[in-house]
Amino acid sequence: MPEGDTIHHAARRIRPLLAGRVPDEIRTPQPRHSLDRWPQRLAGRAVTSVDAYGKHLFLRWEGGLTLHSHLRLTGAWGVYRAGARWGRSPRRAWLVICAAGHDVVQFDGPLLELLTDSRTRFDQRLAALGPDILAPAFDDARFLRRLREDDPTRPIGDALLDQRTVAGIGNIWKCEGCFLARIDPWRPTGAVSDEEALAIMRALRPRMEQSAEHGHRAVKREIYERAGRPCPRCGTPIRQRGQGDANRPTFWCPGCQR
Ligand SMILES: [Zn+2]
Repeated sequence: MPEGDTIHHAARRIRPLLAGRVPDEIRTPQPRHSLDRWPQRLAGRAVTSVDAYGKHLFLRWEGGLTLHSHLRLTGAWGVYRAGARWGRSPRRAWLVICAAGHDVVQFDGPLLELLTDSRTRFDQRLAALGPDILAPAFDDARFLRRLREDDPTRPIGDALLDQRTVAGIGNIWKCEGCFLARIDPWRPTGAVSDEEALAIMRALRPRMEQSAEHGHRAVKREIYERAGRPCPRCGTPIRQRGQGDANRPTFWCPGCQR
């Protein structure tokens, strides 16, 4: 599943191609959007900004229009030189924007919408989200306030996935963050101190920032998908078990995570 670093990485690749430009062409091949007339409604308008917040990406256009995308489990953004082969089948493209000699492509949706009354509706939605893990200055106080509003019996690993508490962390970074801060992802949130919770954020931010800048392959995973292999810190075999309502595969070291 694309996490916040992947979305910020996409925004950083898309921004120099679209921001300040009127695209040469916009297509919406997905039949679901065939009646929306986005190409006509966006024709002749420049993109004013490309923003990521948590796992959300926003393309803002002149005239107060905003395209909002969330990839959920299946979607992806691709950026290709015009004429180059795309990473997924063209049949899976939902949105194609051609500009500056490149194709910016959103594949497989599944959430893509054009907001017209942008500011208000969107600010309300963003306000419901916790602070962005990749914000230039992370809002510690807001994160802790949201975390303490949550059920104190909920395991910390599961609580970290709640986008109302902190935006942008998915299952991989949840596992990595708990490992790096030496916290058992099964420990009830009420038994995790503020300092420990912030230690998870401090461990994740530079790694996710590096991934946002250079792509997720640029950052080594310590524990994710390494069940049965020795912990890189203490050598105890790494364990795996499903966590939360969605039963997300959770990796941890019972030897050094408490
Ligand atoms: Zn260990």
